[in-house]
This record gives sequence, C-alpha cells and structure tokens, in this order.
Amino acid sequence: MYAEIIVDIASEQVDRVFTYSIPDSMKLQPGMRVRVPFGPREKEGFVIRLKDQADYDENKIKPVLSTLEDYPALLPQLMELAWEIRERCHCPLCEALRLMLPAEMRGGRIKIKTEEYARLLIPQDRIDEAIQKQGRANKRKLLITLLSDGQYHSLEELRGMISNVRDPLNYLVEKEMAEIVEQETLRSPFYGRVDAPPDPELTAEQTEVLSELLPALQQPQRPFLLHGVTGSGKTEVYIRLVRKALEMGKGAIILVPEIVLTPQMINWFRSRFGDTMAVLHSRLSAGERFDEWRRIRKGLARIVIGARSAVFAPVENLGAIIVDEEHEQTYLSERFPQYDAREIAASRGKREGAVVLFSSATPSIYSYAMARRGDYILIEMPHRVKNRPMPTIHLVDMREELRRGNHSMFSGLLTQKLEECISKGQQAMLFLNRRGYASSVCCRKCGETIKCNYCDVSMTYHSVDQTLRCHYCGAVKPMPKNCPSCESVYIRPMGTGTQKVEEELNKRFPGAGIIRMDVDTTAGKNAHFELVDRFRAGQAKILLGTQMIAKGLDFPQVTLVGAVMADLTLNFPDYRAPERTFQLLVQVAGRAGRGEKPGEVVIQTYQPDHYAIAAAKTQNYRNYFTQEFERRKSDLYPPFTMMVRFLCEAKEMQMARETAEELKQRIIHEFADTPLWRRILFIRADEAPINRIQDRCRAHVLMKLLNHPDTDRLLAKLQEMTGDEYPARVQLEINPASLA
Ligand code: ADP
Ligand code: ZN
Ligand code: ZN
Repeated sequence: MYAEIIVDIASEQVDRVFTYSIPDSMKLQPGMRVRVPFGPREKEGFVIRLKDQADYDENKIKPVLSTLEDYPALLPQLMELAWEIRERCHCPLCEALRLMLPAEMRGGRIKIKTEEYARLLIPQDRIDEAIQKQGRANKRKLLITLLSDGQYHSLEELRGMISNVRDPLNYLVEKEMAEIVEQETLRSPFYGRVDAPPDPELTAEQTEVLSELLPALQQPQRPFLLHGVTGSGKTEVYIRLVRKALEMGKGAIILVPEIVLTPQMINWFRSRFGDTMAVLHSRLSAGERFDEWRRIRKGLARIVIGARSAVFAPVENLGAIIVDEEHEQTYLSERFPQYDAREIAASRGKREGAVVLFSSATPSIYSYAMARRGDYILIEMPHRVKNRPMPTIHLVDMREELRRGNHSMFSGLLTQKLEECISKGQQAMLFLNRRGYASSVCCRKCGETIKCNYCDVSMTYHSVDQTLRCHYCGAVKPMPKNCPSCESVYIRPMGTGTQKVEEELNKRFPGAGIIRMDVDTTAGKNAHFELVDRFRAGQAKILLGTQMIAKGLDFPQVTLVGAVMADLTLNFPDYRAPERTFQLLVQVAGRAGRGEKPGEVVIQTYQPDHYAIAAAKTQNYRNYFTQEFERRKSDLYPPFTMMVRFLCEAKEMQMARETAEELKQRIIHEFADTPLWRRILFIRADEAPINRIQDRCRAHVLMKLLNHPDTDRLLAKLQEMTGDEYPARVQLEINPASLA
C-alpha cells in the first residue's frame, strides 16, 4: 500500500503530493498526520489518499516513518475545503491544511496532559471487611471509604483529603485491592459557572424567523441573512436553532467577531448547553486550545463558539453555521492565506448541507446586496423584544459648542444627560473609538507630532507613567520636555484618549464610579470579564471604553450612551470609513435602553450632515444602504470592483519602492495588449500610507479591478508573480481589511 502525502512545507515548489510506502504494521487513513523522510530531513505531512500502486519506481519510494496521532486529524470534508481554499486564496495546499489544525499541533509543540485516577477493585459486599482488616492504618481505612463508590477518583481530589495519599494507595495497589489509571485531562478554559435561566417565551418575530430557519435543517437552503435591530433578541434565535440541530444529532459552529467582545453570548450558550460547548480563540493558552480542539474532534463537544478560524472546527455532521455581527472586518484574515470566514462558512454550509445564518443589525453592503439579488434569504426582526422602544438619538454639532466657548470634550447636552442619568441611579456608557489618534503628542507652536522611530505612525501619550507608546510595534519612549523639532515647551498631548476622558469624568462626576475598558485595562486573561461583571453589578455608573464596548454587551441598567467623538472613524482614509462609522454608531446606540427603561444616545460630531452620521440618527438601515450602494457603484468601489495590492516590504524604502515599480511595469508589460487589461481600472505604485511598521519599509502597487468572471484568471497570474525574486518581500492582498 502507498500513501499520497502533502509535506508540511509552505512553498509553491513542493505544492504537490508525494508518494510514500506504508509499512505493514502501520494503519493509515486519509487525513492522518505522519512523519516522513524528505530529502535529507524528516518532515511532518498530511495523508491525502491511499492507493494500491505506485506510479513510479517502487525501489525509490521511501516509507512513512510514523503516525503523529492514531486518528485522522483532518476530516474528509475539511480536506476538500482545503483544496478549495488553495484555489480561492492562491496558496499552497499545505497552508490551507494548516488552517484546519491548532497551530500547536504542528511540530509536536504540545503534549497531551494526563492525570492519574484511582478506583477500588474490591466487590461492594467485601468493603466493610476490608476496612476492618486495615487495623490501625487509618489513612488506608479512609481511602477505602472514599473509594467505596467504585468510581474513578483523581489523585488530585484524593490528595485534598488525605495527605501523602500515594503511600496507602500504593499499598492497596500492591494487594490488588485498587488500581491506578492514567487518563487524558482536557484543560478547561471556562471562567466561572453560570446557571441556566428558564427559556424566555419567544417573541412573534423570533418565532417567525425560526419558522424559516428550522425547516432548513432538514432541507438545505441558500444562506440566510438575519437583519435584526439591536436588542431584537438575535442570540435567542441562535440558541433555538442550535438546540434543534443538537436534537437532530447535528453540531453547530457560531462565529463571533472577537471572543473577548462577547462574554455574555458565551455565558448564555454555556448555561444552556454546558460541556457540549467548546470555545476556540486566540486568548486560550496553547494547551487549552488544543484540548478544546480535541474535545470537538472526538465529538465530546458538538457546539463551537469561536473567532474567525473556528469556521474550520472539526465538527462532524454539521447542522448550522452562524456568523454573528457578520459585517465585522475581523472575519477577513489579515494573514496569508487571506480567507474570508464568511465565504468559507457559505461554502462549508453548502458542502455539508448545514444552515448558514449571517446576522447583524447593520449587515455588510456585500451581504445585503446578496440578499437583494436573491442569493441569500433575507429575514428580519425590525423591533426590540417586549416592544421596547429604540433609543432616542441626539446629534450634537461640536463646531457649535466651540463657537459658544465650550472647549471641553463634553457638549452641554452630554453633560446634562450624564448628570440626569447618574442622579437617577442609572448607568451610562461612553464610547471613544480607537485610542491612539486622540492622544498623540503635538507641538502647538510648530505643529510637529511625535512619531514612532520604527513605524510611521503617531505615538500615544500614556499619563500613568508619562511615556509615549507606539500601538503598532509597542515601542516606548519618555515624554520629551521640549519639542524635538523647535525646542519649544508647548508640546503636549492632543485631543482625548480614554485615560484623559476618565480623568475629566472623575473631576466632573466625583463618586460616580468609572470603569475604563481599553487595550491597557484588559490585558490580563480574564480582565475583560471582570470589568464587565463589575459594571453589571452596578459598582460603577459609567463605563468608558473603545470599540470593545460597542457591541455584544447587554446591560439592562444602561439608559444613556454617548459617542464622544463620532468623527474619528469617519476621517480614516479608507473607502469603508462611512460604512464602519455607521455600523459603529448603530452598535453603540444599541447598548442603550435594553432593559425596562428607554434609552437615549448623544452623538458628538463635527459633521452632522454626513450621510453616515445622519443615517445613524434615524437608524434607517435601508436608506443608508441605498446611499452607500449608489456611492460604491458610481465611484467604482467593492462589491463592483476589487481592491488588490502587492505589499512590498524591505529594510530600505528604496528597495520597497523599486520592487513596487518593477511589479507595476511587469503588469503593464504583461497585460497591456491582452483582454485582461480592461479589467484593470487603475494601477499605481506608491509608498504605503503607513510606510514603516516594525522597522520594515512598506510600498505597494495598488490596483482596482473590475469584478468580472475573467478577473480570477488575472488574479491567478498576479499570484504567480509573487513567487519570483525581488529586492523586497512581496505579498498579494485581495480586498484586504486595511489598505494602510
Ligand atoms: P441582539 O443580539 O439582537 O442585540 P440580544 O440577543 O442581546 O439582542 O437580546 C436582547 C435582550 O433581550 C437580552 O437581554 C435577552 O435576554 C432578551 N431577550 C431575548 N429574547 C427574549 C424573549 N423572547 N423574551 C424576553 N427577553 C428576551
Ligand atoms: Zn515644535
Ligand atoms: Zn512602532
């Protein structure tokens, strides 16, 4: 017997199967991981196929050395998916296969953790007698009593009750009265326990939506797009869908944009589904992630909640894939291979006959367009549960505030609403998108800003230790006393970071209690959960935070939400800036009035007339969609076109620029006289907007391509070009999450 094997080396040159012979003693199956000789070395590989005959000289064929696990790590359907990803993302198969496994599995970097368990071997009716016989050996007596239920007890548990339990236990084992076995333990990543609340009675809209979704578990359908306003009870819909799938013996995958943003969703699922649920995300330790993955692979866990890469979770007999907050950019992988978890979800759902549910209060332009075209089935929940009203939204024109002499970051209205809210004993959330830009350091005399030495981005001032930090590479330097450029003393932090807002709030509302959530305060493993719990318990009246408090959280006591600087995302140089701003504002506003009392929202902006801001005020998604869609069409942005770029990185800017220029010339040369040229709307070689990250200079060739069936051929050719030698490192990015 022979095996066709993909060797785990990420290179276009070895992106093909190699044949190895299978030793007689070895049991191989497709999907297993093995060690094989490769040239002078040993390598890990994936078994793709078994076959009876070798297609070339048998004497030259080397044998498989060993298997890495005694089960196939890759499910057949996921191997098929990997072939598809190879085509879609233009990557070697081995890179696609790697996506399907926890990274820790490769190179044997992680060990299975085991624990010892003891069990009594004496029949029940002889136990009393055995205890008597131990005379004055009290520890042995106690041990026999503890084990008298005949069950396995971990040594750890026994140690907690009997000191030096090894000695009496070894004695019993010697006398064949007890046995010790070693068993795998699965490290649990769960934080705290949750009690299951009773099922709420479904709202009319939830019932309606489920009446479309549940039958699809039996009868495969196109993907669904659930457009449900914030607070419409989408999570409960997921839970019922997943429960039904489980009842039918099927599993489910729930994708969330970022797991730390959704502690409540995890709790809800955990309380309903207990241990049959697993989580997969980057905050788990390597061991935890591996253990969760194995619980899924072995079928012990049938429900998976996870970030983007959980779309590859080895769930057999998959019933449903749910993509929560489907508009989020995090579903696009920023690393190579650059897959879109939503595309994979759709494709996997189709292959495996699972229900695919995309869900959002602010669907992406792409998905909503798909629904309008009939490629997705649109289902809607336009109202909040229990007829709770949508929040009232006030726009405050900050230019007006300045004219009136208010130089602070809080408008008169926001201050007044905060006072009211606190005096009534209710809670407020203040949202400041993205720390960083706001607290950059600027000289008021010459206008110079302080940038990172390694990246071309402004550094951020941290008042706690009076340092400047780079949020791209983590570089730190002390806050200078004089401007490095003009020596003036008028150098100081500009604008508002979360820390500064916190200080200001403390001054204005002493005693209100403020919890700040940003990258700094949530660094610890469970810090995020703890802060959320403290706010929920009412230990503070104001929750101040960045993006991470914008979505997912459900605090019934919050009646006021303030967006302190709505324009920051709007001014970002990206064609998606209006879309992101609208999504963010709707999500933020959605945090208000989720309980019994209605909510109010104050959005502070310098551009109240911008369509994205205006649409956020009326919360009218359809209106917004129409305007955004028309703009995309007339300005030729995705989904009508594709943004594609070669990112060129090198030590020297000159090398990066040369490479970009060379690539541009090659493309022009190669395609100018072919029909494919018409698909290229523009091509430009430039320094990247952020022209240095971590000491690497960045240039790019930016292209806009028409979205046309032809374009795939063009992309394949462009991908081929990245295989050649250049002065700089070259990577092709297709519709990347950021063009910076
Ligand atoms: P969304 O994700 O659509 O913003 P959630 O799923 O967070 O909304 O639900 C909003 C709130 O409504 C939550 O507190 C949830 O417990 C509650 N809820 C959901 N469904 C029901 C229902 N059928 N009856 C009562 N409360 C519900
Ligand atoms: Zn200066
Ligand atoms: Zn830096």
